[in-house]
Amino acid sequence: MWGTGVLKGMAVTIKNFFDTYTSKNGIFTVEYPEKRLPEKERFRNFPILVYDEKPEELRCVACDICAKECPPKCITIVKAKDAQGKPLKQPEVFDIDFTVCMNCGICEETCPFDAIYMDHEFELAEYDRMDALIYKKERLSRPWTHFEKIRPTDAKEINERRAKDATKTAAAVKPAPPQASNQQT
Ligand code: SF4
Ligand code: SF4
Repeated sequence: MWGTGVLKGMAVTIKNFFDTYTSKNGIFTVEYPEKRLPEKERFRNFPILVYDEKPEELRCVACDICAKECPPKCITIVKAKDAQGKPLKQPEVFDIDFTVCMNCGICEETCPFDAIYMDHEFELAEYDRMDALIYKKERLSRPWTHFEKIRPTDAKEINERRAKDATKTAAAVKPAPPQASNQQT
């Protein structure tokens, strides 16, 4: 019959309208920022630098690979040096300019040391448009347990791979057993 579709459509609209008052599932809009949906595990926003035990012992060895691969070149790394001026395997400076970062995750994908990962945090708004969004290593650092909490599936896989790698490395550096002497006494 002519107009049935319109009436059906109106019925759905009216039902949904009343559901917003009477049903728990009636409101589809999340009233952010009072309420916030939990992020999906694979959600990624900005990078963080991870450490295992102490914040001053980042996994990063300042190899510069992520900075070279970063498409908009928003990572700045300067290697730390010892008292004799010899470069150390740690960053003295590790800055990321979040006004430029495009959340691509290439730094995470290219780091060979499992040192940089994409975080879930997205509320980074600042009043200052310049320095406030250039994050220094102290502000970028998070414990590995933070990553295990936000991305447990990836963390499990990474932990297993790192444990295997550590076992292989330990086996490779193990001294060979002493050779049995062929000399007859
Ligand atoms: S985060 Fe990874 S790729 Fe980047 S400098 Fe550190 S160790 Fe190298
Ligand atoms: S997420 Fe992409 S743009 Fe941002 S720092 Fe990493 S590589 Fe650079």
